[in-house]
Amino acid sequence: MQFSLTKTAGLVALAFAAGLGISAVSQVQPITLQDLKPFDPPAKEPMVITPGAKLGDASSDAIRLFDGKDLSGWKSLRDGSEAKWTVKDGYFEVMPRTGDIATKQEFGDCQLHIEWATPSVVKGEGQGRGNSGIFLMGHYELQVLDSFQNKTYFHGQAGSIYKQHAPLVNASRQPGEWQTYDVIFQSPRFDEQGKPTRFARMTVLHNGVLIQNNSQIYGETFNDKPALYLKHPNKGPLKLQDHGDLVRYRNIWVRPL
Ligand code: MG
Repeated sequence: MQFSLTKTAGLVALAFAAGLGISAVSQVQPITLQDLKPFDPPAKEPMVITPGAKLGDASSDAIRLFDGKDLSGWKSLRDGSEAKWTVKDGYFEVMPRTGDIATKQEFGDCQLHIEWATPSVVKGEGQGRGNSGIFLMGHYELQVLDSFQNKTYFHGQAGSIYKQHAPLVNASRQPGEWQTYDVIFQSPRFDEQGKPTRFARMTVLHNGVLIQNNSQIYGETFNDKPALYLKHPNKGPLKLQDHGDLVRYRNIWVRPL
């Protein structure tokens, strides 16, 4: 009785699977321990570094891009001269209409820590409120915007990869308060013809909250046309945007990966 019941159930299952066009033989192979490689430890020992004294402080292997005193590590992108943004009390501020600024040093894959604040005096709305931007390699914008009770298109708010990915959540602090971005960036690679062989990727924590989870970047973050990859070297400067608003920055450091 037991046998015939089982047999009947099996036949019904087979007929059902055949009706759905499913092969009766499973294609899924279980993962065995032997498949999990590598088994041996890497030959190279991880470098010993000293972490920052507190979260957000630069570690001993980080490159500080602003010492709180001057913008000697930066240049104006308008003409390559010294950056003309205002330096005050340990931070610097966009000097409207002087143009974007960029680091003299160039980076590819990296970890970036950067702190920013939009004006405490709220002015304008949407994209016109506390707008700036952090361009990895000078090409891929992580949006800086006052997104505290300020609606705009979702892939253009603070923490978006501009016009490509909205942040997972809106973790914005109030206008005038200091905010942090911690970024892990993978640079793109190109073949001889300029076709991307590896897409850029970005993971971002905004004020300690994950807002971009290894997001794949579709190309240059244009404002007025769809994203597109344009071949560039494996390293590029970090660029900050002059969008005409008095956005401030401080405590910027990079760890090339
Ligand atoms: Mg912007």
